[in-house]
Amino acid sequence: METQDKDLKYWQSRRTRLEIEGRAFIDGAYRDARSHHTFDCISPIDGSLLARIAACGEADVDDAVCAARRAFDSNGWAGLNPRARKAIMLRWAALIRKHADELALLETLDAGKPIADTTTVDVPGAAYCIEWFAEAIDKVGGEVTPADQHLVGLVTREPIGVVAAVVPWNFPLLMAAWKFAPALAAGNSVVLKPSEKSPLTAIRVARLALEAGIPPGAFSVLPGGGEAGKALALHRDVDCIAFTGSTPVGKLITQYAGESNLKRVWLELGGKSPNIVLPDCPDLDRAAKTAASAIFYNMGEMCTAGSRLLVHREIKDALLDKLIDASRRYVPGNPLDPATAMGAIIDQTQLDRVLGYVDAGRREARLLTGGSRAHAVDGGFYIEPTIFDTGNGNALIAREEIFGPVLSVITFDTIDEAVRIANASDYGLAAAVWTADLTTAHDVSRRLRAGTVWVNCYDEGGDMNFPFGGYRQSGNGRDKSLHALEKYTELKSTLIRLR
Ligand code: NAP
Ligand code: MG
Repeated sequence: METQDKDLKYWQSRRTRLEIEGRAFIDGAYRDARSHHTFDCISPIDGSLLARIAACGEADVDDAVCAARRAFDSNGWAGLNPRARKAIMLRWAALIRKHADELALLETLDAGKPIADTTTVDVPGAAYCIEWFAEAIDKVGGEVTPADQHLVGLVTREPIGVVAAVVPWNFPLLMAAWKFAPALAAGNSVVLKPSEKSPLTAIRVARLALEAGIPPGAFSVLPGGGEAGKALALHRDVDCIAFTGSTPVGKLITQYAGESNLKRVWLELGGKSPNIVLPDCPDLDRAAKTAASAIFYNMGEMCTAGSRLLVHREIKDALLDKLIDASRRYVPGNPLDPATAMGAIIDQTQLDRVLGYVDAGRREARLLTGGSRAHAVDGGFYIEPTIFDTGNGNALIAREEIFGPVLSVITFDTIDEAVRIANASDYGLAAAVWTADLTTAHDVSRRLRAGTVWVNCYDEGGDMNFPFGGYRQSGNGRDKSLHALEKYTELKSTLIRLR
């Protein structure tokens, strides 16, 4: 069946036939947590119970890490010719594509994301990420360095060993793939802990990894809460931890690494990204539509969300009219309906958090549109796309990461003022500027303290070639691109004396 024929009915009926695995995948097999404890996996679409999930704790972490170490030391994965690892990973990606409907449905049910997005972004994006690193790994080599005549100097990259990946719930499979694909391609063993709010796709792809030929232990998935993440970060036999999540938890992970074995720590954290529209913006309609998708895509549950819209006073009224118009596309709907652009907020806690910020916004700023809970499906967690005029941007909602569909508009009069406001943040993940002038575009991009700067666009760059990550408290290290391999390899200098 072609994607365009898959309507709400198709996905609803597919749902009734869905079998959901909730156990951990450790050392090549599904099993319960040692404690036999479980937690409920609730669908944010309608509040229904999807499955009971193994609540992994310290003992399970230890099992998975020991299995990962055995797999690494046996050389059954790390010792393969990179071409052989490539072939296995390409098979894995092909299996993910073969099971794309099932995975997209799991992701939509689990995380409330529109099926239109999980079928086009999350699942194919994860497969593509695996393919990209698989295809890269037999093409990157080391160096022969300049040295004295009597020496041969080699610089090689080696896998670090056991890599733990701890990931959030907003792009459950995709954020996981950004970690495990380069780490596995480089020859490491990986233990993945998905968020307890969205564990289903990670659990499912673990089995596909085994089917593709990734050896037992080289890839395990441990569902569980923060304690499982903490146990991984404290484990003395984990060599590297790659984390995507909030800045406060990122700080804890750094602390745990310091308390234990100084494992390598790589952090992709939060953001409060500025989207700056200058008066010479070449296309105000496009800027308005893009500003809406920058904050409302994925329910605003985006680390890169363009949550601060900085507008020059001269064009403010014109842009805001168009923006409010563009926001109507994001009326919350049933995530299983392919026509829906705005799905459900991940859970009750996040819903309350976002509504709390909306209340704060009502006190400090002027509400332009939205601001209420929506009821797209009974029992689900939905919020209207919401826009506040915050004047100079001092309001709480214009400073803190909300991780929901709430936009703060900030007004400025000069480019210097815009750059100053844009950079006045603890974060530095992404930024954008709209201008028709090439010099201004370069000048402002250089002055913005952010890991990614978009000019006359936002959230572009779906391929894997651009390194992704943040300045300041948005983290360190980069996902995607060949640079990601640097995180999961050690550099070795070998000096050979000839005579
Ligand atoms: P979070 O609360 O920091 O959780 C992230 C992961 O860490 C989850 O798997 C969580 O487990 C686990 N965890 C919680 N407490 C822990 C602890 N003490 N030790 C070790 N692990 C622990 O973040 P979130 O709410 O899932 O995700 C939203 C945040 O992620 C936002 O700040 C967003 O900006 C950020 N994010 C950043 C990027 C990026 O690339 N920069 C991308 C996406 C999201 P449980 O959930 O099971 O408790
Ligand atoms: Mg869930």
